[in-house]
Amino acid sequence: MPKLIITIDGPAGSGKSTTARLLAEKIGAAFLDTGAMYRAVTVAAMRSQLDLGNVETVEKLIDSADFKFEITNNQMAVKINNKDITEQIRDPKVTENVRFIASQPSLRSRLVKMQQNFAQKYQKIVTEGRDQGTVVFPDADYKFFLTADSARRTKRRAEELTEKGLKVDLTKLRKEIEIRDAADKNRNTGPLVPAKDAVIIDNTNLTLEQTVNEILKIINKNS
Ligand code: C5P
Repeated sequence: MPKLIITIDGPAGSGKSTTARLLAEKIGAAFLDTGAMYRAVTVAAMRSQLDLGNVETVEKLIDSADFKFEITNNQMAVKINNKDITEQIRDPKVTENVRFIASQPSLRSRLVKMQQNFAQKYQKIVTEGRDQGTVVFPDADYKFFLTADSARRTKRRAEELTEKGLKVDLTKLRKEIEIRDAADKNRNTGPLVPAKDAVIIDNTNLTLEQTVNEILKIINKNS
């Protein structure tokens, strides 16, 4: 069991991944991007041309495929059956389809186990997603929930996509983010909701460094 678990949950574009990565680097912890796991299963199912709505076939796929998640160069590298799919998991088509996986309780429970197993390997871990403080690590030492207004979150996602050379329609992207957040909030299992004991940080007007410093202040005050 890790000695220190810090969870960071929040909606798309709230800066969870970058915050978790920088925080982990500063405190010498591992980090876990759980969205990458949902995305990896989505890629595997799409590649096998499965009907994403057919839960049983996706269950079988999760149970039989070899998913590997490794931290290299402060990034989460993802492999299925030894094939690197780190780039593919960010494809907009995958983002669109991930809800099929995220909405199914029996698939979520498999991913929750994968996340808990991953954490076992480390002494300290910063883990980010939607349900880390509520479901996956309810006894975490520190829990944070990041939010930002929808315009700012859209801008951040647009910058990430533009950096990858993808064309962005801001109005369409904002709609997509709002639809994904609504689906994440409204599902019955592992919904996007702050844990009762989470510290909520609205980072609409904060830089990445400022967000990490807010978190560090709280951790240092209590340690
Ligand atoms: O964080 P990211 O945008 O990569 O997550 C992709 C999708 O995976 C989310 O929209 C959500 O539906 C799902 N997800 C989840 N629970 C998590 C992490 C991600 O349902 N812990």
